[in-house]
Amino acid sequence: MIDSFGRNIDYLRISLCDRCNMRCLYCMKEEGITKFRHEDILPFEKIEMIVKALAKLGIKKVRLTGGEPLLRSDVEKLCVMLKKIEGIKELCLTTNGYLLKDKAKTLKEAGVDRINISLDSLDKDKYFKITRGADLETVLDAIKEAKKYFKIKINTVLLKGFNDGEIDDFIAFAKDNQVDVRFIELMPIGVARDFKDCLLDPQKVLDQNSLLEKTELIEGVAKIYKIKDSSAKIGAISALSHSFCEKCDRLRLTSDGYLKTCLFAKKEFDLKGLRENELESALKKIISLKPASKNSDEVTKRDMNEIGG
Ligand code: SAM
Ligand code: SF4
Repeated sequence: MIDSFGRNIDYLRISLCDRCNMRCLYCMKEEGITKFRHEDILPFEKIEMIVKALAKLGIKKVRLTGGEPLLRSDVEKLCVMLKKIEGIKELCLTTNGYLLKDKAKTLKEAGVDRINISLDSLDKDKYFKITRGADLETVLDAIKEAKKYFKIKINTVLLKGFNDGEIDDFIAFAKDNQVDVRFIELMPIGVARDFKDCLLDPQKVLDQNSLLEKTELIEGVAKIYKIKDSSAKIGAISALSHSFCEKCDRLRLTSDGYLKTCLFAKKEFDLKGLRENELESALKKIISLKPASKNSDEVTKRDMNEIGG
């Protein structure tokens, strides 16, 4: 569906649960979440119903995220349900990788096409610190296993004073493991608002890296760099410093059933109570209200684990 500003809306991100088995400093409060009760979380059948209605309106790509999507039991069952929907061409997943080693094969069989794995440091102690207690080796093992079934992308939030000294290590990691790495600019949402001193524009940093060559390529929202002597690619996602609102093709469904037309916006639309025959016209109206760009005066109070990144 083409929105009021000529953008083709064809991408839906679904946060499957707000729970997580990590507590990344910039994403979740230490005490975790207390907000959603089990009955607040959208059941698979309702997610399927919403995706069916959105597919009729032109959604082609779905990404499952969270919180940690692999904590949702029987997630493979949902993948099968979504992949069967007419019009859905691509099913993707973003995970912290902690539970991925044992699930990679079944996720492939359930129809997942691509997996992004979040990894903010290659240093054991720093990784432990940023995730408040996770073990780096577990995720590295999962990457090795998942590579047998998927072309993997690594997501790294670039944080000044924390991992900006590791860029060359990540480039070497991409080269050695034949995985793409994308450096993401921190968005000041939820607890990340306290991390303003860590803000760093990945594009600006990568432009100056001598191991990389600039290209004209853009993949989704990532500006792509080539690693000299390797086919692995490095990307910069600078959502804050180089806004891509004018090309934004996304909708986001929260795990408690609200549709967001802008990541930053406070405004969201409750879909839980809508019946199947009411969904299509309600969704058309909601998409027509997608704002032209983010409004800094009306920023969401949600943390990223509820929205899904
Ligand atoms: N738990 C899964 C994971 O970590 O991959 C999926 C959910 S997580 C919210 C999705 C992505 O959002 C992760 O790559 C995470 O690093 C990123 N993220 C979380 N908070 C962010 C923020 N304030 N700004 C930019 N990216 C953020
Ligand atoms: Fe969990 Fe992902 Fe947030 Fe880290 S970034 S706390 S892994 S939801």
